[in-house]
Amino acid sequence: MSLKSIYLDNNATTPIAPEVIEVMSQIMTETFGNPSSLHGAGRDAKVAMENARETCADILGAEPFEIIFCGGGTEADNICLKGVARALRHKREKIIVTPIEHSAIRQSAKELSDEGFDVQNVEVTKEGIVTPEALAELVDENTSLVSIMYANNEIGVVQDIPALVKIAHARGALFHTDAVQAFGKIPVAVDELDVDLLSISAHKIYGPKGVGLVYAKGGVKIAPLIHGGTHEKGRRPGTENVAGIVGLAKAMELAAARAAEEYKHYTQLSERFLGSLRGKIQDITLNGPELSADRITRTPSTVNLSFAGAEGEAIILSLDLEGIAVSSGSACSSGATDPSPVLLAIGQTPELAK
Ligand code: PLP
Repeated sequence: MSLKSIYLDNNATTPIAPEVIEVMSQIMTETFGNPSSLHGAGRDAKVAMENARETCADILGAEPFEIIFCGGGTEADNICLKGVARALRHKREKIIVTPIEHSAIRQSAKELSDEGFDVQNVEVTKEGIVTPEALAELVDENTSLVSIMYANNEIGVVQDIPALVKIAHARGALFHTDAVQAFGKIPVAVDELDVDLLSISAHKIYGPKGVGLVYAKGGVKIAPLIHGGTHEKGRRPGTENVAGIVGLAKAMELAAARAAEEYKHYTQLSERFLGSLRGKIQDITLNGPELSADRITRTPSTVNLSFAGAEGEAIILSLDLEGIAVSSGSACSSGATDPSPVLLAIGQTPELAK
């Protein structure tokens, strides 16, 4: 990107922070050993990785053994959904997700449905909110897992996770939340959220691509998706991406330290941006909730708008010509000509969704 360009697509990915590059290059140039090797080079890599695990666990309010490093948000979501559903098969066969989940969850749910699991979608309101009442109607004694994202990647809607967890736990079901778009933007502490499983991806928080983590509360059984050695206690075999893991820990440290201040800053920017657009352009619709002074309703760094009579793709391309990078939905679905499933799920018309 040139100096004059304005990059506004940080939910797709972020640039890597210089501090993260620094710790990663130290690992890549000096601490290159295999963390499973017994010699000094291996032990050094293991120490770096275990220090990173401790940092990530501390930040999330978890224990180090509850952190499973993996290859990013998509893999983390797959591990949580398929790994837990399969581990509990024949005891409980029902999985509950929402229609506004990232494709990593929606497609994993489809795969489980093809395998014979009973997969149910809990409806969301016009703002994208999952109400405790709607969830309570679906959760029963046959439910093994409820997976509801904390903050949505397209419209930013933030769910009341503790209230939803209560409903799942009351029926003995486990709860997973995809916190990929929440971490660094709003408070993410596993003990306060009371979740059993949670996913994080490094490249959304100024860290490297292709690395992420699963938080899995002690005692939660996960059937591994791939098979190999005993890495990550057998839950995710394969030689660990030590540089990526150390980069993830540094990115989490930086993001956690500035999250509260950034929330205030982005709230101001979001209100100013929306205010000025609304003053100039008629017929724009904010998809997702307005911000509120009383509680967190939306990640303020996410603003999703429909412009009546103008297609998203045309707007993206004309803004790109001006050096401004935006998106019209999840980067994982770009190229798809269909309207966003998230916008359709909140009741937007196909025309406005496009
Ligand atoms: N979950 C959410 C909410 C996301 O926004 C993304 C990224 O697009 C993912 C999961 C997937 O993460 P990754 O790109 O690390 O595979």
